[in-house]
Amino acid sequence: MSLVVDLRNGWRSDGAVALQLVVRPLTGGDEMQLEEQTSLTPAAWANRLLAACTLDLASGSPVGLPVVRSLSLGDRERLLLAAYAANFAGTADMVLSCGKEGCGETIELQLDLATFLAGRPGRGDGAQTFTIAEGETQVTCHLPTAGDLETVAELGRTNPAAAADALVARCLVAASESSGPCDPPLLDRLAREVEHRDPEADIRIAVTCPTCGTATQALLDAGAILRARCAMGEGIHAEVARLARVYHWSEAEILALPRQRRRRYLDLAASQEAIR
Ligand SMILES: [Zn+2]
Repeated sequence: MSLVVDLRNGWRSDGAVALQLVVRPLTGGDEMQLEEQTSLTPAAWANRLLAACTLDLASGSPVGLPVVRSLSLGDRERLLLAAYAANFAGTADMVLSCGKEGCGETIELQLDLATFLAGRPGRGDGAQTFTIAEGETQVTCHLPTAGDLETVAELGRTNPAAAADALVARCLVAASESSGPCDPPLLDRLAREVEHRDPEADIRIAVTCPTCGTATQALLDAGAILRARCAMGEGIHAEVARLARVYHWSEAEILALPRQRRRRYLDLAASQEAIR
């Protein structure tokens, strides 16, 4: 089922800010494209998934990668949550390790991702840039976007700290000359401003370790949950082969099916094979 998703910061459409997008279920064709690009960083994978299944509400056409890359990280996160809900029923599994030294217990959570989509987000002010001042320094920035995240993600694989610096540098539009724009107080101020303007970029879940009792806040990463879920099962190529063998449909016909309908035919095929 397709879902209409309300956005906080929106996207530019014909010079105006549009605050809704539609997420449709994945087809087998979408999944095959994603499965064949195994080297994509998590950020690039999530952007490609959204480019395939995110539609303009008015025209029903895919908005494409440039629009996805222009979205704020919180709006991107809401679309990824919707993509999960559009394709998978029930709760999502999240696995993390207790961070307390000497514990390291594996903690498994079952999350109802739809609850994070409930209610409309507050509306952003529609500004493409904002200016903050700390002491003598004044900087003008834009919110980190899905494209910014994708650009620094490759660096983040080997050097997360450098990737975080590169992300800040990408968001700086202009800075006063009185001091360096990356002083810690200014960075703290910038982080607070981004959190205020785009809170869904950093959804935290309270977790208590069942072994040592340590309480912590875990980051909800809808893209990682979605990618892990898409990778479950025997894979799209094996599913196409099985459906083609049982129903004699072409590859194109099978790949055009939405994921849930394809799974129902696979279940039917399995029960028919069991009867024989
Ligand atoms: Zn623990």
